[in-house]
This record gives sequence, C-alpha cells and structure tokens, in this order.
Amino acid sequence: MTERRYKYQREDFGELPVTLHHLTIYLSFEEGHVEASNCLEMTARKGLSEIVLDANGLEIIGVEWCENPGDEGAPLAYEYRRENNRLIVALPEAVEAGRRFCVRTFTRCFPSDHILEGIYRDSTPPGAPQQYVSQCQQWGFQRIMPILDDCRAKCTMTTTIEADAAYTHLISNGNISRDRNPEGRPVPKNGDPGRQVITFENPVPMAPYLFLVCAGTWDVLSDQVTYGSGRTVRLEYLVPPGDADHVRIPMEILKKSVLWIAKRQDYEYTGDTYRTICMNKSNFGGMENVGNTTIVTDAALITEHTLDLGLLYAHAVIVHEFEHNQCGSETTMDTPFDVWLNEAYTVDVERQFMADVFDPSFVRLNQIDSIRNPLLGPLAIEDAGHAGRIVREGFNDPDELIDGVTYVKAAEVIRMLRLVLGPETFHAGKALYFTRYRNGNADTDQFFECFEEVSGVSLETFKRGWLYRIGYPKVTALGEYDGSAKQYRMRFRQEVRPGQTPFHIPLELALVDANGRDIPGTGQVFQFMEENAELVFENIDTPPAFASMNRDCSFYGTFRHENAGRDVLALQARLDPNPCNRVDAVRQITDYQRVRLLNDPDGKVEEDWLDLYGEILADGDVSASIKAYLLRIEEQPMDREYGTWYQELVSAREKLMLAVNHRFRERLVEQFLQLDTYRSGSSPGEGIEERMLKNMLLEIIAADDSAESHRLLLDHYRAATTSTDRVAALAIMNRSSARWRHDVLEEAYNAWHGNLSGYANYLRVVASGTREDVFDMIEKEKKRPGFDITQPTWSRALFLPMATNNKMVWTDRGIKWVTGTVMELAPFNATTAGRLLNTFQHVRKMKPALREKVTAALERILGSVSETKSPAVHGQAKAYLDLK
Ligand SMILES: [Zn+2]
Repeated sequence: MTERRYKYQREDFGELPVTLHHLTIYLSFEEGHVEASNCLEMTARKGLSEIVLDANGLEIIGVEWCENPGDEGAPLAYEYRRENNRLIVALPEAVEAGRRFCVRTFTRCFPSDHILEGIYRDSTPPGAPQQYVSQCQQWGFQRIMPILDDCRAKCTMTTTIEADAAYTHLISNGNISRDRNPEGRPVPKNGDPGRQVITFENPVPMAPYLFLVCAGTWDVLSDQVTYGSGRTVRLEYLVPPGDADHVRIPMEILKKSVLWIAKRQDYEYTGDTYRTICMNKSNFGGMENVGNTTIVTDAALITEHTLDLGLLYAHAVIVHEFEHNQCGSETTMDTPFDVWLNEAYTVDVERQFMADVFDPSFVRLNQIDSIRNPLLGPLAIEDAGHAGRIVREGFNDPDELIDGVTYVKAAEVIRMLRLVLGPETFHAGKALYFTRYRNGNADTDQFFECFEEVSGVSLETFKRGWLYRIGYPKVTALGEYDGSAKQYRMRFRQEVRPGQTPFHIPLELALVDANGRDIPGTGQVFQFMEENAELVFENIDTPPAFASMNRDCSFYGTFRHENAGRDVLALQARLDPNPCNRVDAVRQITDYQRVRLLNDPDGKVEEDWLDLYGEILADGDVSASIKAYLLRIEEQPMDREYGTWYQELVSAREKLMLAVNHRFRERLVEQFLQLDTYRSGSSPGEGIEERMLKNMLLEIIAADDSAESHRLLLDHYRAATTSTDRVAALAIMNRSSARWRHDVLEEAYNAWHGNLSGYANYLRVVASGTREDVFDMIEKEKKRPGFDITQPTWSRALFLPMATNNKMVWTDRGIKWVTGTVMELAPFNATTAGRLLNTFQHVRKMKPALREKVTAALERILGSVSETKSPAVHGQAKAYLDLK
C-alpha cells in the first residue's frame, strides 16, 4: 500500500449519483449564526439507498424526505462525518434510477472572521449590524449548508433571505421575485417588523461555487449600459457608506468593459442587474458570483491612495470578472482539474482589453514581468520542480489551484494557441466552445476538440507539452547569412529530456535591416515542433542587421540567440521595431555584466555597457514606459542558473546602479527634473508611463545615498500630487541612511492609516526596507493598535514584500522571520502563509551553507504546521523538502 501523494485526485471526481434540478433555500441571519433550510430536488442517475452530501463545520438539526418541494417532510436518519465533511443521509426506501425526489436539510452555520470561505464576517460600517459576505469557490457552499459541492451539480435556485431590518441590502444570485417583493427590495417579515425578507429567483442553472449571499450596509452608485440590440442592463456598485464617489472611475471602466466584451467576445449579459460588491476581507482580488461580483475594497475604490498599479489592476479585474459571466458561469469547468480553463481564457480576454486601453508593448512587458516574477511567477515555480503542470495530478487544498501556473502560464498557453491557429481560426474555435457547452460543463479535452474541429489541426503535441508536464522549453537559435546564396538560415534547438516529446512552440520572428525596419516578407509565426528545426529565408539581397526572434515573448520559456554577440545585441537594443525585444536585448547585455560580477565580486563594470546605457538615456524618441523598462536594472538574472545567488545578485545590482550613477548622475537628475508628473491630468490613466520613468530615474539617482539625493527624495515626496510618486519616494527614502526617514514615515502613517489602501501602501513601504532595523519596524507595525493580522489586505502588505527583499531575507534573522511568520499565519490565512513560504521554494538549488539553514527552517515549519488544519501549507513545505 502506498500513501496517496495528494488528498484529492482525479478519481475522486466520479459520476454524480444524481442530477440536481433546483434548490429552495431559506437563510436567516441570527445572532452569531445563520439558520439554513434547503430543499434539494434531484433525479437519481443510478439505484440509491443513501445520498452523500458535502457539509463542512455545520450543525445538523434535521433531514427530511419528500416527493415534492411543497410537501410535508418525513424525518430521515443521517450520519454526519465531520472529519471528512460528509453528511450521509439514509433514504427511506431504495430509489431506482430515473426517480425524482427531494431531500430537505435544516442546519446552522457559524460565520468566522478569519476563515474567508462560506459566509464570513466582514468589516462592519459604524452603527450598522454585523456585515456578512460569502465566498464559495471552491468549496464554500458546503460551509453554508449541505450540498453536492461539485461544478457539475448545476441547478436553478430560489433563495429567501431573512435578516435584521437595519441592513440596506440582502443579496443573492438571480432576479428579485416580483411576486414576493413587488418594489424590488426586502419587505418586513410578517409579525416581526424588526426583520426583513427578500426572495431571489435564479432561473439559469448555476454551479454551487458561484453562490453568493450577503447581508450588509452599503451605499449604491448605479448606472446602466445599453447594448446595440437596445437591451439595457442596470449596473450597481455597492460600496462602504460615503464612498460612492470613489467608484465613478470604476463604473466607467465597467461600462467600457461590458460593451467591449459584447463587441470582441460576442457576449451579452442575460440578467437584469450586474452588481459589484465591495468586501474588505478576501484572499482573492475578486470573485465572479453570477451577477454579483465581489471585489476587495482596496482594489474596487479609486481614491487618492490608489497607485498606478492599482489603477491598472482595476481595469484588469473589472473586465476579468465580467468575462466570467460567459467563461466560467455559463460554460463551466468540469472539475477543479479544469479550473485553468475558466481562468486562462478569462485572463486572455482581460489582457486583450488591457492592450486596447493602454500601450500594448507596455502591457506585454508587464505580463512578461509576471511570467518572470521571482516569487510567484510560473518560471520560478517550475524551476523549483514541484509544480507547473497546468492540469494537475492532484491537490491537497483547492486553493493550490489558484497560483501563477493557472493564471499566468495557462494564459500564455491560450495566447500560444491563438498564435498557432491564427486569430480567425481561434475565434471560430472559441465560438464553437461557448455555443456547444453553454449552460453546461466542459473539460480540457472538450475545449481542445473545438479548436481541432474548426482548424483540422491536431493539438495532441501542443496539449501534451504545455498542459501535462512540469517545465518550460529552453530554446536556442543560430542565425547565419550566406551572401552568395542570398539566404538567411535560422537553426533552432530545444532541450528535450529523454523520453519526452518536444514542445509545440510558436516563434514569432522577422529579419530587420540596418534602418530598424522589418525586411518585407520575413515576418511570420514559425511552428517549431521538433528538437531541431531550420528556417531558411531566400532572396535576401543584403545582410540583415539582426534577426528579431521570439517577438513579444511569443512562447513561454527561455530563449537565447546563441551567436548574437554583444555588438549584435546592442544593435537590436537600439533598432528592433519590437519594443519587447529591445528590452530583452538590453537585459541580455546587462546580464553579461551581472554574471561577470557574480563570479568576480571585485570586477569592474565595463565601459561599453555604460555607453549603451548613456545612449538609452539620451534617446528622445522612445516612449516613457519603454524607456523606463530599458533603464531598469533588475536584481534577477536572465541566466536562471544564478537565480539563487541572492546576496550576490543584490551586490551586483548595487554595483551596476552605482556605476551608472557615477557616470550619468547629472543627466539623470536633469531628466528627472524635466519630467513634470505633478500637474493633474484629465484622466486617471494619464501620466502612468511618465511616473514610471520618473521614479525609475529617482531610484538610480538615489543609489549613491548622498545628502543631495536625500534632499531630492524629500522634495519629490513633498511636491508629489499622486500616491504613486509619494509612495515611490517614501520607499526609496526608507532604504536610505537619511536620519529623518523615521519622522517622514511616521508622518505618512498618520496621514494614511485611516484609509484601507493608504495604510496598505504604508505597510508595504515599511516591509521593503533594507536597513538593519527593518524587522524591528515590521514588529512595531504588527503591535500597533489598529493593525489586524486577520485583515488579509494588511497582512499581505506587511509580510509579503519581505519574500522578495533579497538583501534582508537571506540573513539569519530574515530566515528566522519567514519561518516564524509562516507558522503564525498558517492556521488562519493559508493563502498569505503559502505565498510567503514560496521564498524557500528553491532550497534544493541554493549554495550549501544557505541550503542547510533553509532546510532546517522548512523542517521547523513542517513540524509545527498541522497537516489536517493547514494541508496546503504543510504539503508545500513537504514538497520543498522532497518528501513524498
Ligand atoms: Zn477569474
């Protein structure tokens, strides 16, 4: 007998024993608990003597049998196995396949303030009754009442909510019943005017993970959008009292998103009202609950504290959650193993929207950053070697499925699928998919069958490489011009492990002339499907300046043009019409300097690298954001073999920054002062790119830690009119030796901590400090009255920046701090604890001295974090230690 490696595997998701038709739910919010009754109407799919329902942490009051929903029930015997969340109900007689019957449950649930699943206690506005919201993905419904908590158990619902009359809103999925609530709002309860009641009818079959129930106090901003067909949808934002003005910009983004989706995705929303509900506590940014998207308040409101990154995120999350109406809610994944389908396609739509609203190269560079994110990016996850399969083998907790593999790698797979098939065929394939599986479920194979049908192309190799394997392709290319034959020849090679089939890789490329123009006829997507392949361009009269390959990072993996020397890369850095490839060329050139410094800490930064840097600085034609990307000196290497040389990478970056600072300080300051980011723009998106560049320049200027730089930081901080400028200045200040930094930080605390986003900004600044007192400062913030470790926005802000703070986290104190914080957070916030634990994911690749310390830390975590209470965190530590 072997121990199961995962708690849940594919075979745990067998055929459902019944087809679920309808739920008739009554939920009453009482003091400290919620009473629930639920009548489940279903048809047996096979002979049954019992029915097993999912039920987590409930009190079971009784279970009844009835033939029809309105009938008087007869009590049933049941057994509640709390340890595996199963309610086993004995049926009064053997039920044959095809028979329709009902089971009614009477239960109680107890909303928590830190288990943010099922119904939970959110922050309550002053003077209002306790605020309740819910989160059901993946398995939250069973924390509210017994259910077949399965994506395939799609059914219609009638939901009645009863609660204190003081709430402004009681909300669930569907349309308000006009019979029972003719005014479209709750009515007083018969004989009890202190209570109110409302009923929702949800006529479209919906998976349980999309269920929502809220009782709360909100202000409303409403608007509407009218489709070309003339149909109008009401849009509502439910916000904390007094905040309605702060969702005027999000409402505009939403209106734009709804119409953009209609035009580009051929999808019209079918309900009367689409609501966005603010919640203060959540481990996720947002959750689509069919017509009732919940969004974490920090991201939902656009205020004076919203950073540019937050504004970009607002655009992304709004269109993302709305797209889920089609992808996810109407057409639903079959099991949690297919959750990537819901997310990857939706992220792809979100990315196309972003590229339409903002500069597409800027947007793509941001995405490439998320692929390369050293903590949570999929490349880093795959380097660790434990995860990376998009369709998983198994999982211990469904939250594990919500990671960089599902959201970033899988979205790259959809992007590659479009490159492989071409945009028109891709569009036809997705249209077939959403038509065929509308209001139903689909799995991974069924998704791909649609694209194979419309294209006639086999996607077997594509699927095998990208979905069922840990690891990414490592591609190298050799380019060669033959003047006598007028040929340019490219030879490609991908590393293939023994027994593996090669990846199907779409390579977007072109040849570029000495004026920085594509040579006509050379631009294409090359389908690279073998271990070795060759592409020959004929009739190339003059030698190209260079080959621009893997444009816009056309495939997920690493790419190196092997015989492009530093001079060719320098040419590409200046001339490539593809901005992402310009940035990539500069990164390759910088990496050469970096690797030299890693191997020779006393080495000097070479002049030709500095010359190139000076040229970029002088370039007046390039856009501000691309310039910022070209000038940015990263800590992480391009050569991933050096990924765990953390302390050395910090030193190398400092040395590169100082070299630039010494040579170009005057010009850096001059450009910094010329960029005016203080005048207010007409739209909130205006000036994002300029602010990015200005703060990039500031970081390089301040690298010398001189009194003059400190003054510049303070001036910028004082003159700033946006939170992005202010927070950037404060963060750099906090890393400086300026003695007054604590006074300015305290001033910022006082000014910002009353606002959820402002406080989070402040906490992130504290935790990204690189002075010796950073851990004491974090400790001090943790103890301050007003800080609440169970508030996920704040605990994320105060703890997670340390995970990538390489200068401080790899000290003895840093390792101890991560260990202790993971152990402290695991019992009540597994999501943040797990992300923080990712810091140690590359333990096997560390140098021996560090590996020993981190192994000991992981063993401590494994010994202290309970396998039953925090299975995901426990399993993660176990995997890093290579224990099965
Ligand atoms: Zn999503």
